[in-house]
Amino acid sequence: MKIDGSCHCGFIKYQAEVDPEGVYVCHCTDCQSISGGAFRWAVSVPETDFKLLAGTPKTYVKTAESGATSRQLFCPECASPLYSTAVDKEPKTFNPRLGTARQRADLAPKLEVWCGSAQNWAAVQGSAKKRNGNKLRIVPRRGESHGAQ
Ligand SMILES: [Zn+2]
Ligand SMILES: [Zn+2]
Repeated sequence: MKIDGSCHCGFIKYQAEVDPEGVYVCHCTDCQSISGGAFRWAVSVPETDFKLLAGTPKTYVKTAESGATSRQLFCPECASPLYSTAVDKEPKTFNPRLGTARQRADLAPKLEVWCGSAQNWAAVQGSAKKRNGNKLRIVPRRGESHGAQ
């Protein structure tokens, strides 16, 4: 699905080809402090499927607790977060922040990651999979039993 977006002031514009099935929210504490919100809403696309159309974003290099680094790109004029990408990992993926996408109403999250640090009021409706961390570890939904019965 083709999407296009811009920061709040319109200085940065981009387009991307995204898989709506890959839309996720991240509840990690880095995403909370960098976004200023309870979680971050994004999708990963290969470098070749992401294109800047206008403006040059500013970069902040974030070091995670694990030591992994990523570039966080934001508008130098209005500070809207736009996307992130790895520092040296190849091939690069780009993770546009979907609050900046014009088609955001059609991009409901299918996955939640880092649920262990989710704010307990921040329930995301309808996302099928929940992970505690970034690995393939499914966290049982509230009220569901876990294990053989
Ligand atoms: Zn801007
Ligand atoms: Zn995160």
